[in-house]
Amino acid sequence: MDPILLSSIIVLGGLGLLFGAALAYASIKFAVFVDPKVEQILAALPGANCGACGKPGCAAYAEAVAKGETPPNRCSPGGADVAQKVAAILGVTTEVSDPKVAVVQCQGGKAEAIDKFVYEGIQDCTAAQLIGGGAKACSYGCLGLGSCVRACPFDAMYMNDNGLPVVIEEKCTACNICVTTCPRGIMALIPRNQKVFLACVSQDKAKAVKSVCTVGCFACKICVTPKVTPEGAIEMSGNLPVIKNIHSDDLYVAFEKCPSKSYVVRVPRPEPAVVAEEKIENQQ
Ligand code: SF4
Ligand code: SF4
Repeated sequence: MDPILLSSIIVLGGLGLLFGAALAYASIKFAVFVDPKVEQILAALPGANCGACGKPGCAAYAEAVAKGETPPNRCSPGGADVAQKVAAILGVTTEVSDPKVAVVQCQGGKAEAIDKFVYEGIQDCTAAQLIGGGAKACSYGCLGLGSCVRACPFDAMYMNDNGLPVVIEEKCTACNICVTTCPRGIMALIPRNQKVFLACVSQDKAKAVKSVCTVGCFACKICVTPKVTPEGAIEMSGNLPVIKNIHSDDLYVAFEKCPSKSYVVRVPRPEPAVVAEEKIENQQ
């Protein structure tokens, strides 16, 4: 054999052996132990990587859960099913809360609420809020620039023609991102079985509310009177009524009697016959 070819084969073979041995050593020396539970938990998660659990993504959440650093029920998009699956992988039990949905707590769109100036800056609610508290004359009202809509990772929101965000309930996973995005505290999560909610967060007094918005709550307190709702169903907190009994059918009466029309009905009131049947079923 040609001596040059032979020496090349020997040199290259030697180098191959050397690098192979180095790689084998490194793979043992720097091996990272991966808890098999992390892989199992990751497979059980929906893979939305939305951050609703408080971690940067599903992998980070799976790791934290496997280490016992965070509970197995923090994945909102996964809901009760995923929480139970993750808990089963860990061999623990977990509490599962009622499913929730995002709601828009303001009805003061272009037609109902006035602006105090024309805003022509960055089309972002947080940026607008920094310029004189935003253009909306109501210092609590929706600024209408849709930051919540853009932040929603599930395409579960859109802006309507009246300049207000709308939640598509079927798509909402209650990830909470719109809630943390809104600089006005307009977005909130409520239990899906809550039929009626108050769509106003203004703590202003009646005169101030009426001067800027036609649908703002002006704290007349009619909804908390015993003629409308039983004691404890709704209570005043400052200038705003707060719903305490989310299951009360009298919330529909509050909606009907509210002179400012500040309540919103998510789920239509059942027909009287259906209510009677439900009561009979509950008694059996
Ligand atoms: S509407 Fe809000 S809570 Fe619902 S999926 Fe979108 S960002 Fe999440
Ligand atoms: S709800 Fe909040 S984030 Fe969404 S458009 Fe209104 S002010 Fe902006």
